[in-house]
Amino acid sequence: MSGFVFSEKPIEIADGDGAYVTDSNGTEYLDMGASYACVPLGHGHEAVQEAVSDQLSKITYVQASYPVEVRTKLYKLLAETAPKTVDKVWLCNSGTEANEAALKFARSATGNSKIIATKRGFHGRTMGALATTWKDKYKQPYEPLMGDVEFVPYGDTEAMAEAVDDETAAVIIEPVQGEGGINPARKEYLQRVRVETATSGAALIFDEVQTGMGRTGTLWASEWADVVPDMITSAKGLGNGVPIGATLCRDWIADNYGSHASTFSGGPVISAAAHATVSTIVDEEIPTHAAEIGEYMMGEIEAAVEEHELPVRDVRGNGLMVGVETKRGANRVLRELALEHQVLALPAGRTVVRLLPPLTINKEHVDTVVGALTEALS
Ligand SMILES: *Cc1c(COP(=O)(O)O)cnc(C)c1O
Repeated sequence: MSGFVFSEKPIEIADGDGAYVTDSNGTEYLDMGASYACVPLGHGHEAVQEAVSDQLSKITYVQASYPVEVRTKLYKLLAETAPKTVDKVWLCNSGTEANEAALKFARSATGNSKIIATKRGFHGRTMGALATTWKDKYKQPYEPLMGDVEFVPYGDTEAMAEAVDDETAAVIIEPVQGEGGINPARKEYLQRVRVETATSGAALIFDEVQTGMGRTGTLWASEWADVVPDMITSAKGLGNGVPIGATLCRDWIADNYGSHASTFSGGPVISAAAHATVSTIVDEEIPTHAAEIGEYMMGEIEAAVEEHELPVRDVRGNGLMVGVETKRGANRVLRELALEHQVLALPAGRTVVRLLPPLTINKEHVDTVVGALTEALS
């Protein structure tokens, strides 16, 4: 018997430390994907490990209806660090569940059913979130999915203005599309989406499952976008590898959320991991570091592309969420990066090499990656 795997890699990972993982033969790899942004503080981060083992030694699980100190502390920390007026938190265990909750809450709070999502967007793979995900390949085998979802082109202000009306429950949108190819939105576009949704009474859901936790240079992308959404969903980096999701809600949503629950919501162990992760990111000003290193990385990649005339169409991103669109298949480049240069990265579609490293990397790590990329692309 074997487990379900998406596409098995030829490297068995045995250990991790900071920006590096080690395979079972003892070879070290620079981890520039952080397994889809799930390890913003790097592997084996002490504060997170300590928080988890401390909590394990006290109590592993107690149902969510009993308050637990560490969960209460997490609620408070998330509310304090989120854009103002986002003040209630629903906890779950993954990104798709965080979005699933957001979609339910939007329908319940508005009394409407229509959801507007964006072309090339990705919001998860459970039936509701999947219905708001763009790629047909992910949806088609499972249809019919949740109905009343309309897709508009990402970044098209007029299309969004036309689609949002007084029958809209929510707009769900990534501030930077991840899976869809690392497509950053313009701040003005996101602000216009806020205006349109506020005017029509629809909820604005920022899916920050990938962009959150400092990834794009601020703790939440909503900060640089200067937008206060009605809900922000988070997961991937939130527990530095321990699976947790969150839906941050404004009062008008939380007060009318309907009836939603999950057995493992906000367990003490995952709450401890997330509390340690978020407080470290905030206290050590990791988002500022991510902004600086991200800018350095994009600059160095662009310089290498020019100097070596590399087959690259575009380098784009925000902070340490960076996409390099190649004129060749991304998978070939990724394979060479891993096997020849011991650098792990990710694809985003067929042509984009996606870099989502731990936010704690330094310039030397960047120089190593740019060197490896240059050779892999040459
Ligand atoms: C990964 C991702 C999800 C889904 O998260 P899971 O934890 O895999 O369910 C949703 N939205 C975005 C933007 C993501 O990157």
